[in-house]
Amino acid sequence: KETLKIGMIPADGIGHEVLPGAKAAIQALGSSIPKTEFVDLLAGFECFTRTGNALPVETVEALQNDCSCAMFGAVSSPSRKVAGYSSPIVALRKKLDLYANVRPVTSVASSRSAVDLVVVRENTECLYVKDETQTVGTNGKEARATRLITERASRRIGEMAFEIALNRPRKHLTIIHKSNVLSITDGLFRETIRGVPTLPGADGKYDGVTVAEQLVDSAVYRLFREPHIYDVMVAPNLYGDIISDAAAALVGSLGLVPSVNAGDTFVMGEPVHGSAPDIAGQNIANPLAAIRSAALMLRHLGHADGADRIERAVDEVIREGKCLTPDLGGKSKTTEVVEEVVKRI
Ligand code: NAD
Ligand code: MN
Repeated sequence: KETLKIGMIPADGIGHEVLPGAKAAIQALGSSIPKTEFVDLLAGFECFTRTGNALPVETVEALQNDCSCAMFGAVSSPSRKVAGYSSPIVALRKKLDLYANVRPVTSVASSRSAVDLVVVRENTECLYVKDETQTVGTNGKEARATRLITERASRRIGEMAFEIALNRPRKHLTIIHKSNVLSITDGLFRETIRGVPTLPGADGKYDGVTVAEQLVDSAVYRLFREPHIYDVMVAPNLYGDIISDAAAALVGSLGLVPSVNAGDTFVMGEPVHGSAPDIAGQNIANPLAAIRSAALMLRHLGHADGADRIERAVDEVIREGKCLTPDLGGKSKTTEVVEEVVKRI
């Protein structure tokens, strides 16, 4: 059997606390997956303040040349401009061409409402091309940002979304956009995705998928009022980012929602949450999003049995409700929750 070499990038804040949980869960699978080897890699704001580089070239090269996959924790990106700093996660998604961010959001029995959806977020363009300028004009300072939408990126995220929808029981896809205002950019996104089933080679493959669309603002409204109407939601980068945090609130915590950054040749698991400086260093961060991200990563690599075992263990711990972190109303520590999950794997 081949060795699964997993690049581990905790980065900042609670990334350091939740990524060990993901590692423990993978290790608990034992011989039911290929032999694993973990490669610790640096990136993040702490790394930047120490070394002047938020994403060392060694990290990128190790991922590109040595690793089969990776797990990312979370990064602390300051809200003010810091000379020389740029978010390593945004850069990694582009450098490794991880063009899709797939974020399943599901409620367990105890959640307030029944949610079972997947946000498929375009991961390489939109406002995240980070092409910003500031000039001084008659209105004082004037700041501008480029919002890039391309046919290629929209097509491949569209194909990914159709593929995911096709493999789910409800087979329903909702395109999220704001074409009523942004008819050129979001119009291109919307039309390109609508066109996916008619692409050469699609040959009726997506016939079972029903397609709807929703303006992003009313999509959030309906997400809160009737979340059950959504199955797969495909969105440009920024809308996808926002919708998935909103969906996380519906299932109780950001600390529950996993993701994978996926391209055609590489996959990187990453919890949807950030570095949570407000709770960092206290051993109270919820590790379940990171653990579920490890399961998604394994599933993406074809290790469905391992992924199932991790996901079942997580669901059990949530359902039992006896060992939960404070974000879910519990009193348990990060490390205690990890132990409970590992026991059940
Ligand atoms: P955040 O996701 O870090 O935190 C939002 C809220 O959710 C906080 O109250 C936090 O305590 C809580 N929370 C998040 N994860 C949790 C967990 N696992 N367990 C329990 N509670 C959890 O978002 P923010 O506060 O807006 O951003 C903080 C920093 O994270 C910023 O520097 C931001 O740039 C960065 N960020 C990084 C990523 C990423 O690495 N992909 C994503 C989002 C934000
Ligand atoms: Mn986010």
